[in-house]
Order: sequence, then C-alpha cells, then structure tokens
Amino acid sequence: MIKNINDLELRGRVVFIRVDFNVPLSDGKVDDDTRITAALPTIQYAIEQGARVVLASHLGRPKGRDLEFSLEPVAKHLAALLQKDVVFADDCVGDGVKKNIKDLREGDVLLLENLRFHKAEEKNEEAFARALAEGIEVYINDAFGAAHRAHASTAGMVRFVRDRAAGFLMKKEVEYLGGIMEAPKKPFVAIVGGAKVSDKVAVLQSLCDRADSILIGGAMAYTLMKAKGKPVGKSRVEGEAIAIAEQLLKAAAARKVQLLLPEDHVVATSFDEGAKPEIVTEIKEDQLGLDIGPKTRERYRALILEAKTVFWNGPMGVFEWPNFAAGTNAIAQAVADCKGTTVVGGGDSVSALNKTGLDKKISHVSTGGGASLELIEGKVLPGVKALEV
Ligand code: AMP
Repeated sequence: MIKNINDLELRGRVVFIRVDFNVPLSDGKVDDDTRITAALPTIQYAIEQGARVVLASHLGRPKGRDLEFSLEPVAKHLAALLQKDVVFADDCVGDGVKKNIKDLREGDVLLLENLRFHKAEEKNEEAFARALAEGIEVYINDAFGAAHRAHASTAGMVRFVRDRAAGFLMKKEVEYLGGIMEAPKKPFVAIVGGAKVSDKVAVLQSLCDRADSILIGGAMAYTLMKAKGKPVGKSRVEGEAIAIAEQLLKAAAARKVQLLLPEDHVVATSFDEGAKPEIVTEIKEDQLGLDIGPKTRERYRALILEAKTVFWNGPMGVFEWPNFAAGTNAIAQAVADCKGTTVVGGGDSVSALNKTGLDKKISHVSTGGGASLELIEGKVLPGVKALEV
C-alpha cells in the first residue's frame, strides 16, 4: 500500500520532498517552469500544514559540482511563485545543511543544491542515502519524472526515514497511468508515434495486451510498413528492427488488436524543413514520408472520438517543421475532443499539445517521459516501490 501526503501528520515535522525541478535554464533564469508549477500543490499543502519543508531535486547531468547546473535560479523562481522566502542551501548534505534544517520554523521552505553534484546520488550509495535522510522525519516523493531511476534520493534514502508517502503529482500520475494498465474502459485506443520502433517495442507489446486499437504514426510507421512489404521509398526505416516489427504485427493479429498503419502520407523528396510537401497513398522510390496524410487523420480521429480511454505517446510526423505538423496537430485536436479519459505521456507529444494550447483539454498530461513509458511497459518503478508501507 502507498500512503498519500494527506494521510500523514506533518505539523512541526521535517518533511523532505523529492521534486522534479529538472527545468531548462538560460542566462541564469528558468525558461519553462511547468515542472515547478506541477509540484506546487504538494509544496503548498506541506507549508499550510506547518511542515518544515526540505526540497531536493536533480538538474541536468553535471559531472561533479558545476555551478552551471545550480538550483539557485530555481530557488528564486519558486520564491516568486510561492510569494514567500525560500532558503537555498549550497549543498544537499553536510553540516551546513544540518544547520539550515535546524533553523527551519513551521511553514519554512529550504531548497537543497543539485543532488547530482554528488556521484553517490545516481550510484545510490548507502552512506549518501543515510546522509540525505539525516534529520528527516517524513519522506515525500513527488518527482514522477525521476521515479524510474533507483537513485539515493528516489529509492535509497527512503528506508532510513520513519514515514513515507506520495505527493499529489505522483499520486495523479500513478492513478492515471496505473488505471490504463489495470482496468482501462473500453474501447481503449492507443496512439503511438515517434522515431524508432526499437524504443517503443515494450510499450507496443504491453498495449497489445490491453488496447482495442493501436494507431501508428511517425517514422516508426515506415519500419512496420516495410515489415509488411509495403513501399516506403527513402523513408526513415530501422533496418535492424524489421524482425521485431514482424513479431509485433503477429502479436497484434493473434490478440485481435487492430494495429493501424497510415493509409496516406505527406511526403517530400528530401529531409528538409523547406522541402515541398505532397500527399500520396503510395510512397515512390525517391520520396520519404514525413507526416500522416488527411485520410489517415480522419480515420484515426473517428476511432479516438469513440474511445472511452486514450493513451498517446509520440508525434505523427516531423512536427517541428510546419509543413509536416498537421498530422500531429490533428491527433492532438482529436484527443482533446474525445469525451473519454485521455492520457498523454511524455516528451514530444506533450510539447506538441502545449504548442497548440490543447493541454488543458486532456484528462492527464504526464510530466514524466521515460517514467510514463516504463509504467505502460508494465515495469515496477523503483521510486514508486520505495513508497510502499
Ligand atoms: P521520439 O523521440 O521517438 O518520440 O521521436 C520524435 C522524433 O521523431 C521527432 O523529433 C520527429 O521529428 C521525428 N519523426 C517523426 N516522424 C518522422 C518521420 N516520418 N521521419 C523522420 N523523423 C520523424
């Protein structure tokens, strides 16, 4: 069983909240604060309850202590969002931090420096995990985006703290994504796109056991088309994944899952932003597919609108280029118009949604790319497992 933050007594206690503040920075400022705002309900709740709040996160991939990856700009940004002081500690363990924690009063907030300034964080070394847990009375994990990693702050330290629970963001992520895995309302339509079949095999296999229809787009569609013996011209094909693609097609057929490939395409003769787009049903030798065509969009839309559950991951084409973004945008619109439960997982599909402003019409937009895919693959996330009591 996993407790939630509101199941625990927080008043006066030192509450460590593992957040995901891995945000883009430029010129010492936060560029996109989506991840910070996503953690605000948990932080604000802890403050209101009179906890002595200690926040910790990683940022980027520093090799040792490198102030380019300091969380100090995030402390300033968070203070502005919360409209209260946020004390910043220049390390995440050690005597200075112990003193900072001792000085916290009820409702005060301390943000620790980047956990990854210590190699021991990613190595999940016990001594470091114990040091992080020193003086901590309650452990809360709200960093879903880091829950697929067994690091000291997401897994190792938890056993050294008396009480543990999920934050509100973690709870929502696990409920929506877990709901898809356990008992999705039918029809369940999954839309999977992006570059490579090999990246998404495990997701597609898991979906074959759960979904009624899987709608394929993006470059990975061409590897699957090639496996079916269809013409793909110069489209991006993963030669080494054709055997896997054949197995997937067989698995879908055996389970009576409708696995749909694009029936028309937006093609060009070169992989180039300015290339002239053309709509075709059969790709010629000198052409490459860069987006799903209008008939495919319509067919996919009709299935999405009838669905009671939708899961979407990965763009339908090279959505970064306006000439080849219409397929991805059409899917974003269809998912937004669907009346069922809609979950969008990770990375590029989320940026496509944000670009079109449709994110607010989705039941749940996951904050964790890798973590959401691993959950859908059926893996147990170390950061979630560590919360079990
Ligand atoms: P992924 O990271 O696997 O979700 O893949 C996303 C990337 O796949 C994006 O940068 C897209 O531009 C790219 N992509 C999608 N469709 C195509 C395509 N038909 N040809 C080449 N690249 C594509």
